[in-house]
Amino acid sequence: MSFRQIYDTFNWYDIHTRIYEQTEEDVKRVLNKSGERDRFDFLALISPAAEKFLPEMMEQSRELTQKRFGKKVRIYAPLYLSNFCYNNCLYCGFRYENALERVRLSDLEIMNEIIVLNSMGLDHVLLVTGESNKMAGVDYLTHAMNLLKPYFADVSMEVQPLREEEYRTLAGAGLNRIYVYQETYHRDHYRDYHPQGMKTHFYYRLETPDRIARAGIGKIGLGILIGLEDWRTDACFTAMHVNYLTETYGTQCSISFPRLRPAVGIMPPRVTISDDQLMQMICAYRLFSNEIELSLSTRESAAFRDQALQFGITGMSAGSKTNPGGYATYRQEGLEQFEIADHRSVEEFCTMLRENGYEPVWCDDIPALEK
Ligand code: SF4
Repeated sequence: MSFRQIYDTFNWYDIHTRIYEQTEEDVKRVLNKSGERDRFDFLALISPAAEKFLPEMMEQSRELTQKRFGKKVRIYAPLYLSNFCYNNCLYCGFRYENALERVRLSDLEIMNEIIVLNSMGLDHVLLVTGESNKMAGVDYLTHAMNLLKPYFADVSMEVQPLREEEYRTLAGAGLNRIYVYQETYHRDHYRDYHPQGMKTHFYYRLETPDRIARAGIGKIGLGILIGLEDWRTDACFTAMHVNYLTETYGTQCSISFPRLRPAVGIMPPRVTISDDQLMQMICAYRLFSNEIELSLSTRESAAFRDQALQFGITGMSAGSKTNPGGYATYRQEGLEQFEIADHRSVEEFCTMLRENGYEPVWCDDIPALEK
């Protein structure tokens, strides 16, 4: 059994139609519901009809978030280890066909990154690589983890999909959180964006969270790339995926909200989303489940992040560099995976949090769900 069996019982266009058929009455009914909300309720929350109710959604979202998570925000920074990638995703600066210098950090370079990250006050790093088993396979990743673990309270990972036994190896090395984004749940169009490499295999990627969970890794980050397909429909499939993982494995899920930004060498966004619509999406997830962690990266502006913080977001990156060795070794521009919009230092960001009554935390001390 995997999420594939669930996914195959749904049709993208049926879900799309049902979302766009939701009425204001449907939204009011869901907002007034006192018990748990299910995936049918999510159709209303993510619908165009719900846009009118955004202020009410934000208020409910704020209340639910603070009740479950308090005013704690998990802070982390990405540490890019390698930009070698054999995929050719049309939306990414690291794609195979882009002529950029390819780098994989050595032990010394990783140690140099550690020194700078520690000096910035960071205690949680997200290890990121392009997708290359040859250049950044499980042996390299495990070795990097062993180098990093003594210096950070928490280490998580966003790398290529791996086999179940490889995830077991990483779990044995102490990894407890992995991010793997489906990018879009539109199976027919998925191949258009991913024309080359392992990432062409829609179902292999779709079943990756199952392999992670079966390997004993209890925290999984999901997400879509906003800008590829109808974001409302993609969000609905993500909610179903979260629901499935939570019910099947007791996984603690998080969701991220990367928006595709125009940039040289990559495709322009096919669909756009306004700030209010992104806020709707954040609140819709929170009203759907008060257990999901919601994370917002430095792709977003400081102004939007500061606002979103109050209405459902529980994790944020800060002080980020999005190129391998970006903190200490390769400071030149041009190697980044994407441009960041919030340039505040970790210190400035944490000061903003404290001034607004929030507490920055490095490890999530949120108890795991009961299986
Ligand atoms: S999104 Fe990931 S897999 Fe695709 S080209 Fe970029 S680094 Fe490679």
